[in-house]
Amino acid sequence: MRPELLTYAVPLRTRFRGLTVRDGALVRGDAGWGEFSPFWDYDAAESASWWDAAREAADEGWPAPVRDRVPVNVTVPAVDAATAHRIVTASGGCRTAKVKVAEPGQSVGDEVARLEAVRDALGKDGAIRVDANAAWDVDTAAGRLALLDRAAGGLEYAEQPVPTVADLAALRRRTSVPIAADESVRRAEDPLAVVRAHAADVVVLKVQPLGGVRACLRLAEQVGVPVVVSSALESSVGLAAGVALAAALPELPYACGLATAQLFTADLVADPLLPVDGALEVRRPEPDPALLAAHAAPAELARRWERRRDEVLAVLASRRTAVPRA
Ligand SMILES: [Mg+2]
Repeated sequence: MRPELLTYAVPLRTRFRGLTVRDGALVRGDAGWGEFSPFWDYDAAESASWWDAAREAADEGWPAPVRDRVPVNVTVPAVDAATAHRIVTASGGCRTAKVKVAEPGQSVGDEVARLEAVRDALGKDGAIRVDANAAWDVDTAAGRLALLDRAAGGLEYAEQPVPTVADLAALRRRTSVPIAADESVRRAEDPLAVVRAHAADVVVLKVQPLGGVRACLRLAEQVGVPVVVSSALESSVGLAAGVALAAALPELPYACGLATAQLFTADLVADPLLPVDGALEVRRPEPDPALLAAHAAPAELARRWERRRDEVLAVLASRRTAVPRA
């Protein structure tokens, strides 16, 4: 029997990753609730690992934590300087900010102003990282990072400034700003290629795209560089899996990108995973029936999620029956 989905659609506070509304589905199992929310620009094959992560949460649960709090960064979308300042000030004590850059239609001046505002709001001992979502080429990135590093009063790292592993490796030789790999890990055939190419100082791990908490823990063991756990812009049900990963990692040297419940106008749980004193408590909030009902996806969207589930189940079934290549 196909697992039942509870679908949701929640408006975001500001446009993020081209989205104004985030939608997804929840599945329930013996171990609790899991979230299945691959972005619509991913196909069924790429969405299969997201399903694995949801099933792990629902059917198995997660390994035991080694800490009870997880430091997190505030995420600053590609907003104007005054809004950026306000977001950091209202972040629940986050001492690290991740600032989106390379937004289409914006200028270097917009980015510099945003970073200066974030530094002003954080104070000089806070950490600032930028995320360009693979938008630059190597030359642009080398020039831009020098400027932004100055505007920020020092960058902790730059997340996926350029698209490919080869680009990251080339850029890393040309900049003093440490490089973090995100898309090159979670959307890659081989997530370890980036490490073999010495292309990153830090690796970003996201539970859903990488197939679950245990899969991420195995990867973290293999990468040999520090890892940062980030969300895939989930409800607090999905965020709990990221928190479980961050809580179970032997080392956690950087603030995690798990405070993204702040980007939602509403959540599916009564007690969302929001930072206090710059950290999330390690816990697993349960969805609230009234909130699930209030934010249920419209019928057409719910059907779309059911089709996506069926496509993913077909992909997984065909992988199981495929003859392994010699
Ligand atoms: Mg990123």
